[in-house]
Amino acid sequence: MTSILIKNVWLDRDTVDIFIEGNIIRNIGKNLDVNAQQTIDGSRKAVIPGLINGHGHAAMTLFRGWGDDMPLEQWLYDRIWPREAKMTEEDVYWGVKLACLEMIKTGTTCANDMYTMFNATAQAATDMGIRMVAAPTIWDFFDKKNTEAAKKQTLQYLKDAQKYSSRITFAAAPHAIYTVSSELLQWSHDFANDHNLLIHLHLAESRTEHDNAVQQFGLSPVRYLHKLGLLSPRLILAHVVWLDEEEIKMLADHEVKIVHNPNSNLKMASGYQFKYMEMKHAGITIGLGTDGCASSNNLDLIEAMKTASLLQKAWRYDPTLFSAQDALDCVTINGAKILRLHTGKIEAGRLADLCLIDLNCAAFTPNFNFVSNLVYAANGSCVDTVICDGRILMQNKQVPGEQEILDRAAAIAYRLMKK
Ligand SMILES: [Zn+2]
Repeated sequence: MTSILIKNVWLDRDTVDIFIEGNIIRNIGKNLDVNAQQTIDGSRKAVIPGLINGHGHAAMTLFRGWGDDMPLEQWLYDRIWPREAKMTEEDVYWGVKLACLEMIKTGTTCANDMYTMFNATAQAATDMGIRMVAAPTIWDFFDKKNTEAAKKQTLQYLKDAQKYSSRITFAAAPHAIYTVSSELLQWSHDFANDHNLLIHLHLAESRTEHDNAVQQFGLSPVRYLHKLGLLSPRLILAHVVWLDEEEIKMLADHEVKIVHNPNSNLKMASGYQFKYMEMKHAGITIGLGTDGCASSNNLDLIEAMKTASLLQKAWRYDPTLFSAQDALDCVTINGAKILRLHTGKIEAGRLADLCLIDLNCAAFTPNFNFVSNLVYAANGSCVDTVICDGRILMQNKQVPGEQEILDRAAAIAYRLMKK
């Protein structure tokens, strides 16, 4: 069994050793007397759990900077979908590799992803060594022919999912209520129940989505799902900016999980009044995501933590809200709970997903409050070493194969965007 010993690393105001055996954190303590295959010098470094990106579309790194500064609907219909239609499995594979590279470099060890080409995504994540809840996006645009094709495709992908690493978890992902019929939404719900899967869905993202739902279904987005009987503990909703008190209670009563994507919501001007405090008080588990690079342009969760915190303080006129610790909890312990993973905390017995943060830099000097520095002063470039599932994915800020990924992904992106 592989083993790693991290010597003299800073953890919660103390200096400790961490012993990893296989893919598990086996022991944490002072001067551990163990033999390990690999030893990492943790001095002048702090350890944090590997970060968990609660919502994204990894392959969309290829669309970085392609279609900025326009409304969500125009962006999706005019800029993104026509180019996505040209993508091959190979394109998606390299786009996802680029995403994984960026995530590893900024401390993310696990992503909750939704995208169309499941096999290319799962293979790239497997090859890069990160953990992923990978869900093939489905939609039918309210056309019966598409509904049946989407069901068939999902069943095939569920079979395919057996081929990949144990770090890859399969999930269901109906895209949104404005692209998926109630029949396909209900089918996804039953399918997820039958196979004990999570369901990943965009909801109540923009004012347009909210207003159209009221017009089309006579109900706001959350009430519409409630009426269809789709609210459940296995449901993960991305965004949920447009909702009222009664809808928060519906979500809490059904233990629905929420992922906030502050940078995407701000950039697309989808809405900024994310009701974090009301949801937290109602007992809802809230994670954080970056969303895809087409809408928020990077996958740096440390930057997302800062935006989320500043956003709550700003729109509520209250600087005490959404502390740095709240932000860190969203991308660690809450993310783990949402994705049903035994990660999110540096603790013996948990899966060995962790990052070492370089303290020998301006953002951590002085270091009165490590979590404050991490969230408010640093960004993803402070991450030095990343371990996922007991394997070192990055050390001294170096990821093997980095240059090839940058070159190939760039070439694919230029080709796709050519007329
Ligand atoms: Zn999204």
